[in-house]
Amino acid sequence: MTNEQVIKLDSEYMVQSYGRYPVAISHGKGASMYSLDGNKYIDFTSGIGVNCLGCADPEWVSATAAQLGEAAHMSNYFVSPKTAVLAQRLVELSSMKRVFMANSGAEANEGAIKTARKYSRDKYGEGRSTIITLINSFHGRTVTTLAATGQDNFHKDFGPFTEGFKYSPLNDIEAIKAAATSDVCAVMAEVVQGEGGVFPMTDKFAAALYELCKERDILLIFDEVQCGIGRTGKMFSWQHFDYIKPDIMTLAKGLGGGLPIGAFIVGEKCEFTIGKGQHGSTFGGNPVAAAGANVVLDKVSRPGFMEEVAEKGRFIADAIKAMNIPYLKEVRGLGMMIGAELISPSEGGVAAGDFAGLAFNNGLLLLTAGSNTVRLLPPLTISMAEIEEGLQIFKEIAHKML
Ligand SMILES: *Cc1c(COP(=O)(O)O)cnc(C)c1O
Repeated sequence: MTNEQVIKLDSEYMVQSYGRYPVAISHGKGASMYSLDGNKYIDFTSGIGVNCLGCADPEWVSATAAQLGEAAHMSNYFVSPKTAVLAQRLVELSSMKRVFMANSGAEANEGAIKTARKYSRDKYGEGRSTIITLINSFHGRTVTTLAATGQDNFHKDFGPFTEGFKYSPLNDIEAIKAAATSDVCAVMAEVVQGEGGVFPMTDKFAAALYELCKERDILLIFDEVQCGIGRTGKMFSWQHFDYIKPDIMTLAKGLGGGLPIGAFIVGEKCEFTIGKGQHGSTFGGNPVAAAGANVVLDKVSRPGFMEEVAEKGRFIADAIKAMNIPYLKEVRGLGMMIGAELISPSEGGVAAGDFAGLAFNNGLLLLTAGSNTVRLLPPLTISMAEIEEGLQIFKEIAHKML
């Protein structure tokens, strides 16, 4: 098939929900992706934080292929060895208690929301079901996780939405305290907001939020779907804060290394909140995805791996700052979750979407986020040579856009 044929099929037969680039990707290796028409792209996106080991990691491929040859699926009336081992490792890595396996970030978040509400109802009865989320957050595309997402432009078109969410600004502890009325059962937040524009939570806010939640028996839910699994230079990004631990954490994107998987992990408080028959998922805990996830955890927890992620992240951020891009407003982030905010066109700057478009035309894949921010989520295993190659393109197009 040619590139044109694939693009034509998309435009004729698929729901037009994505503003896609006009290219069909055929394969990849590491942080290099190749299109059907033979172009090479340096990937600073990891398929939105998913391909954390890059494309076609040999150990990941052999582990998932081996599991495919044994059993691709077996229903949750049984548990596969790969899935049980994955649960054990997630519990050990997080010092939390138990794992529920799902297939996506939104589904993991739905499970976390259900768990938080049931915990509160079991203990306090009706009327304590509200969940505070943060302004600019992103929690998914289902009707409930759209309601949880603290961005007004997601609260259109698909109503009625699930009730029981209210929104408070990031890094403003007084606002959270004011919002934490007696009907609140949980606070759900990303430690580094991804889709909202790469905004990290401050240590001070995290510590105060943790104390507030502990004091009032409000559950603290961290959505680690994007910032988890080594992305920020720690296995889970809340591990940057010495003594903080969430009551519930959700994972997806990077966990599977390329296959669909999601999980929510509960600590002591919610260890037994969900009982038999109270939650489920046909594909959840799929053994092929779990086999891939075990390889991801193996590699990411190897000595020195996370330090390298932090180092490469700093290197990329510093390199962008040193490019003397006059319309660059700020570079922020944590580890290899990096946002380069541009001055907007209305203020004489450049649109992040146009920047990413030109990068694409020149062989570099970039994401955008929030208001006018170019977002970088390179594979955690990206080589220095690939980083240099990508940064060279970044610099060239940045100056072309002047
Ligand atoms: C991507 C994302 C989600 C949604 O994950 P899906 O797998 O697309 O459902 C939820 N929360 C955060 C923080 C995300 O980045």
